[in-house]
Amino acid sequence: MADKIIVGGVSVDTRHWIGGRRVASAETFADSSPIDGAVLGEIARGGPGEAQAAVAAAKAAFPGWAATSRGERARILHAIADGVEKRLEELAIVETTDNGALLRSHRRGVMPRVAHNFRFFADWLLKLGHEDFETRGHTNHVSWDPAGPCVLITPWNAPLMLATWKVAPALAAGNTVVLKPAEWSPLTASLLADIAAEAGLPAGVLNVVQGYGSEIGDALTSHPDVRRISFTGSVPTAKRIAGSAAANLTPLGLELGGKSPLLVFADADLDLAVDLAVEQYDNAGQVCLAATRFLVEETVAEEFTRRFVEKAGQLTQGDPRDEGTDIGPNIHPRQLEKIDGFVQRAVADGARVVIGGQRKDAQYYAPTLLTDVAQDSEIVQEEVFGPVLTLQTFSSEDEAIRLANDTRFGLAATLVTGDPERAERVTAQLVAGTVWVNCFFVRDLQAPFGGSRLSGVGREGGTWSFDFYCDLKNTVTAPNGWSRNHG
Ligand code: ADP
Repeated sequence: MADKIIVGGVSVDTRHWIGGRRVASAETFADSSPIDGAVLGEIARGGPGEAQAAVAAAKAAFPGWAATSRGERARILHAIADGVEKRLEELAIVETTDNGALLRSHRRGVMPRVAHNFRFFADWLLKLGHEDFETRGHTNHVSWDPAGPCVLITPWNAPLMLATWKVAPALAAGNTVVLKPAEWSPLTASLLADIAAEAGLPAGVLNVVQGYGSEIGDALTSHPDVRRISFTGSVPTAKRIAGSAAANLTPLGLELGGKSPLLVFADADLDLAVDLAVEQYDNAGQVCLAATRFLVEETVAEEFTRRFVEKAGQLTQGDPRDEGTDIGPNIHPRQLEKIDGFVQRAVADGARVVIGGQRKDAQYYAPTLLTDVAQDSEIVQEEVFGPVLTLQTFSSEDEAIRLANDTRFGLAATLVTGDPERAERVTAQLVAGTVWVNCFFVRDLQAPFGGSRLSGVGREGGTWSFDFYCDLKNTVTAPNGWSRNHG
C-alpha cells in the first residue's frame, strides 16, 4: 500500500493518525471517486486493534489537554481554522473528488464553514459560563468539565463539514477525539489530522481511524474508556451503536435521517416555493435535511408542478468540478441501486413519474419527482437519500399538518406561505428540530440542531454542544469558606 496518494494534485496520507503518528494496517480498502468510479487509492483498513490503539492514545492525551487553559485551547482551534483557510482549495478539490459534491459549493460555502466551525466553538468556549448563585449563604459554582475521550463517527454526504461540527466543540471542551470518517469518503479527515498537527494540537488529542463501520465500529463504541459517542448517519447503524454503547451507558448524540416536508399553501409566493423546491436536489439529494415530500395545497398544485418541472429542467447534471454544474453524481453504485430500488417499487405501487425515474448512467441518477403516492407507502415514509422527491396535495391546513407529521422522522420542515399567522399556527404543531418559513437551509451554529423521533437524540450547536461534550459539575461552598463545621 502506498502511504500517500495524489488526489486532484493534493497529497493525502492513506494511513491512520494515532497518537501523533501515521499508522498503517495490514489490510486496506479501495476508495473510489463518484465522478467516474475510478479508484483513488487503497486506504488503511482499521479493525479492533486500531480502535484500541486510538482510544488508548486519546486516553493518554486527555489529562494534558483537559488541563490546558481555555485561552490556549481556543488559540489552537483558531490556528486549525487558519490552516483550513490556507488549504481551502486543496480541501475543496479532495472533497469533491472523494464524495462528488459540487466544487463551487465546497470552495465558497462548505470549507469556509469548516474553518468557521473551529472559530465559532473557540469563541463560544471563552464566553461559556454560568452565574454563581447562592443557597442559604452557600455559593453554587457550575463548571464545564471535559468528559474524556470522544468517539465521533461521521457520514459521507458532507464529510469534513459534519466531522468538524463535532471535532471542534469536543476539542474546545477539553476532550480528546477519535474520529472515524465514512469509508466512502475518508480523505479530508486525513488532511484535517495534518492541519491540526501543524496548528500545534498535541499528539493524541485528535486521532483519525479509517475502516468499515462493521469492522471497527463496535470496538470503538463499546470501549469502556470512551466518554461520549457522537454519530451522524442512518437509523439502523444508530441502533447498532446504541446497543453497543449500552455496555457502558456511554452518552450518545445521534443525528439521523429525515423525511422532511415542504408545505406550500395557496397564499404562498409560488416562485419562491419553486425555488426552494428545486434546491432539494442539492448534493444529488444526499442531504439529511432535504425537504423531500412536497405537500401542496390542491388549488395551486397544478401550477406549482408546471413551474417546478420547468425550473428543474434547467438544472445541469454532470461533473461536480465544473462551475456550471448544479447536480453531481451519487456517492456510490450501491447507493444508485438503492435509490433506483425505491423508485421502481414506488412505480410498481402506482406512483406516477413526473420527471426522471431512472439512472442516467453508472454514476448519476436523474432528478425525479413522483406523484400519486400514498401516505403510508414506502416512498413517502422512508428516506431515499438521492434526488427523489414526492408530491402530495392537501385541501386544509389541518390535513397539511397531519400529513407533514405522519412519518417516523422529525428533522426539519419548510413552509411557504404569505400569511404570518398561518406560519405561526402551523409551526407550533409541526414535529421538527428545525422549521424554515419562506426560506431553506439558513443555519447558525448558535442554534440547536437535531431531530425529533427517529431523526435523532440530542442537539448540537452553541451551548447545546458543550452540554453534550462536558460533564457539568456544581460545587457548593459553605458561607464561611473553609470551616470544618457543618453549618
Ligand atoms: P450509510 O448507510 O448511509 O452509509 P451509515 O449510517 O451506515 O450510513 O454510515 C455512517 C457512518 O457510520 C460511517 O462512518 C460508517 O462507517 C459508520 N458505521 C457503520 N456501521 C457502524 C457500526 N456498526 N458501528 C459504528 N459505526 C458504523
